[in-house]
Amino acid sequence: MTPVALHQIALERDALRAALLGWYDAQARTLPWRAPPGTNTRTNPYRVWLSEVMLQQTTVPHATPYFLGFTERWPTVGDLAAVADADLMAAWAGLGYYARARNLLACARAVAGQHGGVFPDTEAGLLALPGVGAYTAAAVAAIAFDREANVVDGNVERVVSRLFAVETLLPASRPELRALAGSLVTANRPGDWAQALMDLGATVCRPRSPACLLCPVSEWCAAYRSGQPERYPLKTKKADRPRRFGTAWVLRDGAGRVALVQRPDKGLLGGMMGLPTSDWTTTIPDATTPDAAPPVAADWRDAGAIDHVFTHFALTLSVQAAEGHGDFVWTPEAEALKALPTVFRKALQKAK
Ligand code: SF4
Repeated sequence: MTPVALHQIALERDALRAALLGWYDAQARTLPWRAPPGTNTRTNPYRVWLSEVMLQQTTVPHATPYFLGFTERWPTVGDLAAVADADLMAAWAGLGYYARARNLLACARAVAGQHGGVFPDTEAGLLALPGVGAYTAAAVAAIAFDREANVVDGNVERVVSRLFAVETLLPASRPELRALAGSLVTANRPGDWAQALMDLGATVCRPRSPACLLCPVSEWCAAYRSGQPERYPLKTKKADRPRRFGTAWVLRDGAGRVALVQRPDKGLLGGMMGLPTSDWTTTIPDATTPDAAPPVAADWRDAGAIDHVFTHFALTLSVQAAEGHGDFVWTPEAEALKALPTVFRKALQKAK
């Protein structure tokens, strides 16, 4: 490319950036973990980190009460580091993706134990913390420390794929989208830039019906010019989610308590409290299914079935209910309904 063409691209980029940052200054969403535009250096890294971990695979409205609850109970990373694993898991219940909760605790303990309670202020330093991946490191570096980091989440991928009308299909296009997003990052307000792109993706450049007429960067958007913005990002068709089957047993003691077990540390919902269940298998359980027998002998009645969708599979659980006794963690039912992962709450409610 000639120096003149490169100069032209830089001018276009600067104009696009100015338009989006100006829009962000006026329209930024007010979020409890966010400092207003232009005040990045005062953003608390603990709050930014916590919010970013909670927001992975979770919507803002769903994550917000958890964020407020966590920061009220544990106002600093040192407070969070001191929490018992089981208390943290119970507080996380309902947010899903429970590996994140274990990573959260590992990271908090590393920051408290090895960094004097102070988060590293570079992307590389953050990435070295346990349980912190490339996205979280970039987001915290940019938002909390105003570092020139390339923060690419699903919203940003969508916006960039439209701005540049990327014809490569996701997920193969990820490196290309990342490079294009990186080409827009500069040392000028990188924290606000990251959040501006996220806000644009969340409120204007939505997956369906993008509001192009309200968009501050439509002038530079190739997808808008094409007349088919919704066509992007192009995606490889997903295979249908497989389904698994299992049984959940709701055993009550007649005194308002329900039998719970701690799930193995490894695997889905690892380390969480849950109802006793059979293995979850790809065929409907029968006598040959591993662990298909109830956890104790009792007068079990069929309470119906519930469905739940995890990232990689859908689950149908047959729910069996009985009164009885045995070697379990007996927990008041009201407490269990608050603290259990959603799939078990559904099963418990089904057996009412
Ligand atoms: Fe998205 Fe439309 Fe804006 Fe392009 S013009 S970035 S498609 S909202």
